[in-house]
Formats: sequence, C-alpha cells, structure tokens
Amino acid sequence: MDRDGTLTEEVGYVNHPNRLRVLPQSAEAIRRLNAAGIAAVVVTNQAGIARGYFSGEVLAAVNAALVSQLKDGGAHLDGVYVCPHHPTEGEPPYRLVCDCRKPKPGLLLRAASELGLDLGRSTLVGDKASDLVAARAVGARSVLVLTGYGLGEWEYRRSTFPAPPDHVAEDLLGAVDWVIEGLRP
Ligand SMILES: [Mg+2]
Ligand SMILES: [Zn+2]
Repeated sequence: MDRDGTLTEEVGYVNHPNRLRVLPQSAEAIRRLNAAGIAAVVVTNQAGIARGYFSGEVLAAVNAALVSQLKDGGAHLDGVYVCPHHPTEGEPPYRLVCDCRKPKPGLLLRAASELGLDLGRSTLVGDKASDLVAARAVGARSVLVLTGYGLGEWEYRRSTFPAPPDHVAEDLLGAVDWVIEGLRP
C-alpha cells in the first residue's frame, strides 16, 4: 500500500513525526491483513528527501512513528519501502532518474524479491493514478482509495488514468475487505 493519503492523512510533506496522522481505519485494516496471513507492505515516494525538505533521519523517524502507532493498534507492517529520489529536483545522489519512483515499479519489485511475494497475487492500494500504474506494470491488481487525493483523482481525472483500478474503495479498510473477500472460494 501507499503511505500518504492511503494509510495516513495526506498533509503534504511529512517533515516531522508529529505531522503523521494514521487514518482512523488503518490499524483495523492492517490487523485484518495480519489475521488473513497477507503481507502488509508500504511503498512510498518521498521526494522531500531529494528536494532537501527533510533528511533521511527524519524520514526514518516518521516511518518509525508509523510502525509504532500501528503496533499500538495491534497491527504489524511486514515492510516499508521508500523512493527518496526526484528526476530533476535537488542534488545527486537523490536527484536521479531512478527505477523506484512510482509509477515505476522498482519498490514493488524490491519488496517482492526481499519478502518472497508473488506480485501476480498481490494488490496495490493507493490514492493516485501513479499507484495504479505501478501495479499494472508488475501484473498486480490495484485499488484506488477515496482518501487523500483519491476522491479528486476519481471524480475529475479518471478519464485520464493510464491504468484504471480493479476496484474503488472508501478507504484502506474497504480495500482490504475487498482483497480478503476475493480470496474466498
Ligand atoms: Mg498517496
Ligand atoms: Zn527512486
């Protein structure tokens, strides 16, 4: 799943752990994945690193706060994968035409390789068209959530989507329930 706008509130660049707001149903959503034996993995673009808005240490602290708040809610993340790059902003090494900034699929490929996931049986949940494209690129299904940018993306921009979602859900919990229902025989 995507982080900002999907798992957490879309608040712009999260340059301090105190700006992180886990969405109300997110811990329940991750708990349901945990209970179903489905890996719960975050894949997030954080170009604020390349742009110099915050450091790698701050990013690590923000993601640690995310893991900790979910843990307090009884929910476990199996992995957090970050693209810190931007193709044209900032300075090397983060100013880079990388293979991991969504819509490119590099984060998904890395997660699958390191965690032993079958992307053809995976679903990417996100709030932007770029999330859906990344899913399509690896043969995964996709769900657009209407949190974060999702409502505007769906209401005003869906005719421009290069890869339509397989499902649209109110939020991450709705997306997770759709995934789990799809597993029933
Ligand atoms: Mg997002
Ligand atoms: Zn990257």
